[in-house]
Amino acid sequence: MSKKVIIIGSGIAGISSSLKLKSYGVNSTIVDKGNFIGGRISTREVKIDSNLNYFFHGAQFFTAKTNEFKKIIREGIKRKYIKEFGNFYPRRYRGNKSMREFLLNLSKELDIQQKIKINEIRPSNNRINLLEDNKKEWKTYDGVISTLPAPQNYELLKNFPSLQETLKTGSYNACIALMFTLDQIPVDLKTHYDFYKKPGILAWMAAGSNPNVWTAHTNEKFSDLNYHKDKNFLKKEILSSIKKKFGKSNIKFHSLHIWRYAKVAKKCLGRQIDPRYPVAIAGDCLEGPNIEGAFVSGQKAADLIFDRFQKSSQNFYQT
Ligand SMILES: Cc1cc2nc3c(=O)[nH]c(=O)nc-3n(C[C@H](O)[C@H](O)[C@H](O)COP(=O)(O)OP(=O)(O)OC[C@H]3O[C@@H](n4cnc5c(N)ncnc54)[C@H](O)[C@@H]3O)c2cc1C
Repeated sequence: MSKKVIIIGSGIAGISSSLKLKSYGVNSTIVDKGNFIGGRISTREVKIDSNLNYFFHGAQFFTAKTNEFKKIIREGIKRKYIKEFGNFYPRRYRGNKSMREFLLNLSKELDIQQKIKINEIRPSNNRINLLEDNKKEWKTYDGVISTLPAPQNYELLKNFPSLQETLKTGSYNACIALMFTLDQIPVDLKTHYDFYKKPGILAWMAAGSNPNVWTAHTNEKFSDLNYHKDKNFLKKEILSSIKKKFGKSNIKFHSLHIWRYAKVAKKCLGRQIDPRYPVAIAGDCLEGPNIEGAFVSGQKAADLIFDRFQKSSQNFYQT
């Protein structure tokens, strides 16, 4: 089907939408304002003694319940860009060697353009006009899937009130990620620590691609109260919590990343596609607070857009 479709966001929801459309024979272009693919599935590279190491300062692993996502994992394991992480039940997975590697492989045949920010979306007859940052001319598309976190999507979709109705029903918790390295690896070191429902300010802490490269995430309560505070204060607070775990090792601060919209606190309810225009929304806020939720939402958005195209071509031939 020859249709011009744009997907905003190269996170897992955007990639999943594009893959599903491709399976129907519809090509799409993904654009993203960031430097790298992945959105909240983020990887930071660091060179230690001339070796490349990776921090995972967004999502640290993924799980799979649906058949479609299990299929993605089976394929990734077969092709060696996904590996099992730890010894958990249900099983947890990571990209091999990095979380970015997972997405790069998954999206190999897709058209993805980074460093493009979309500033405005407007209806135009039965098509859609988009305005890129720093560009004066509008580009026209037959279909749009927008996958930003709900509050940002709400702002972008101001000309589509029925989608805004859906987007305003969801909410997110923040998360503060501190990346650090250890000069000496303790002999009895675990690869992860889980602090859920325990006193303190951390939710989770885990090694990245190597046991001396770590990321700690603060819990929802601390994150929501403090994400806007001074970075030196945040760094000090988190480092003092971490020190208790690593005994004699020297902890070297690498960097801090603030996620304002990290994890879905309340899912969005309502329409996923505009009743009149071929504009759909996707993202974890629609299906659940994790990578798989975002993946599933992308598949559903692609189904809705494809269905809309089919109905409009039937109407065209009937009139
Ligand atoms: C710290 C942290 C830890 C997490 N841990 C886990 C975990 O262990 N396991 C798990 O399953 N999930 C985890 N999650 C949740 C998981 O990362 C998300 O559910 C999932 O990645 C969301 O994907 P998405 O495609 O919906 O959104 P995103 O990944 O946020 O993608 C949206 C994209 O839109 C782009 N964008 C925004 N505005 C514009 C614009 N105007 N123009 C163009 N592009 C734009 C952004 O750059 C971004 O790349 C974690 C999240 C965080 C932040």
